[in-house]
Amino acid sequence: MVKVENSKNIALSDSIINLDHGDPTAYEEYWRKMGDRCTVTIRGWDLMSYFSDVNNLCWFLEPELAEAIKELHGAVGNAATEDRYIVVGTGSTQLCQAAVHALSSLAGSHPVSVVAAAPFYSTYVEETTYVRSGMYKWEGDAWGFDKKGPYIELVTSPNNPDGTIRETVVNSPEDDEGKVIHDFAYYWPHYTPITRRQDHDIMLFAFSKITGHAGSRIGWALVKDKEVAKKMVEYIIVNSIGVSKESQIRAAKILKVLKENCESESDNFFEYGREIMRNRWEKLREVVKESDVFALPKYPEAYCNFFGKTLESYPAFAWLGTKEETDLVSDLRRQKVMSRAGERCGSDKKHVRVSMLSREDVFNVFLERLANMKAH
Ligand code: PMP
Repeated sequence: MVKVENSKNIALSDSIINLDHGDPTAYEEYWRKMGDRCTVTIRGWDLMSYFSDVNNLCWFLEPELAEAIKELHGAVGNAATEDRYIVVGTGSTQLCQAAVHALSSLAGSHPVSVVAAAPFYSTYVEETTYVRSGMYKWEGDAWGFDKKGPYIELVTSPNNPDGTIRETVVNSPEDDEGKVIHDFAYYWPHYTPITRRQDHDIMLFAFSKITGHAGSRIGWALVKDKEVAKKMVEYIIVNSIGVSKESQIRAAKILKVLKENCESESDNFFEYGREIMRNRWEKLREVVKESDVFALPKYPEAYCNFFGKTLESYPAFAWLGTKEETDLVSDLRRQKVMSRAGERCGSDKKHVRVSMLSREDVFNVFLERLANMKAH
């Protein structure tokens, strides 16, 4: 039987817990331990201009942040930054929309189909349908997609919601009509082995899922093609005339500390994060094993170039399935656990996505409630 440590938090025992969103509060303790090393002082007269670097194609990108991004990718070895444009965004959410806009506006005919292999990150649906653009059209699941004409495939690896390592799945005869956006929000060593240095045309990264600073709303894109980068910048100018400098300066500082620590003997954030995730996954797998009702995907081990050893994957979300004919999101809701319905991710009622990144006490309450769920 799994020991669930929740004696401290009596207030939580009866409340609704929200594991629908992937709010990454799991790492707060680490940053608290860093004390003032990440503190940034901003005076009343600092950072007032719209502009950061007028000589850069992305003129609202703070040079300090650009430098920190390149250094971090260099130290982790997860993505190539040479000969590319860095476009900063208000979260990777804004950048994904900017990239879809950019690729569509450069396409020969419209609407451009947008697809992602199911189960997919459900927010892509809202991102590509909400403003009812005539330039692109959400076409859903990429498996089996065979429409003629230009298309964009969104590839999320490791995938949200199911943690699998992904590549493109659309096999188009007119390959030059196909464009790909790689979403690497979770391609970091605490979640998955770093097996190669990615060097695709458009790669998106999210500050929120690396360090847990979701509230800063910083993301970046590494873009090979100048015209695509320009169009993405244009989109962000129209959308928000750039990206908060306060956020960029704070992100730069935190990424710098992260990089320094990941090269030192102690306080390696990725080791810390991996340990939290390993611990949670082991406990969750034990509860699932004892239940006889639930199921979780298995992930192959792989050699991680960053840690220099073979490691398992510990995804940021659990893709929880049930062996019964039931609506799992409702079953969990009855236990006061909010999760994301599999149907929203292009899957079925028997699956849900559960965040693994909550605070420890919340995660333990989730385990307790899951362990108490009886078979029908
Ligand atoms: N892509 C994926 C796959 C995500 O899971 C998320 C966050 N849930 C994002 C993008 C958005 O990240 P951000 O907070 O930077 O907007």
